[in-house]
Amino acid sequence: MSLPNKPVYTGGCQCGAVRFRIEGALNQASICHCRMCQKAFGNFYAPLANVTPDDLSWTRGEPKRFRSSNHGLRGFCGECGTPLTYEAPDGIALAIGAFDRPEDVAPTKQWGVEEKLPYVDGLHELPGFPTESDDEATFLSDIVSFQHPDHDTETWPQKDRP
Ligand SMILES: [Zn+2]
Ligand SMILES: [Zn+2]
Repeated sequence: MSLPNKPVYTGGCQCGAVRFRIEGALNQASICHCRMCQKAFGNFYAPLANVTPDDLSWTRGEPKRFRSSNHGLRGFCGECGTPLTYEAPDGIALAIGAFDRPEDVAPTKQWGVEEKLPYVDGLHELPGFPTESDDEATFLSDIVSFQHPDHDTETWPQKDRP
């Protein structure tokens, strides 16, 4: 008898020193507007997907952790600083932007709305432009990315990197 295939999610930090794998369905995905999440992510709010701890494995490296309260830990890459986890007594959540396919992890709830920044609800109405339309960023024409690709790799960093 074969078990039905579990969904698999992978991801990691920007530099590739820390990679994760989730085998199993994600639990609730949400954004949190609380001030601690704003600081931990250096951002307007934190996009987080709850995972079942037994489904999660660190396949390369492991996050460093900052104890942000008596109950909470914030995991991040010690090499590049990418925020990766929120860990509390009731579970662990991963940063949605760190997934290889963040487009598959849509948030369905907002928490901490009492601390929501006043302009957040209008962000989607800002005028939008493609990256290449920034005429002052001439360095973009020969940019070489050192960001880890959005899939697992055998070795990293690449050998030919300066
Ligand atoms: Zn990193
Ligand atoms: Zn929060």
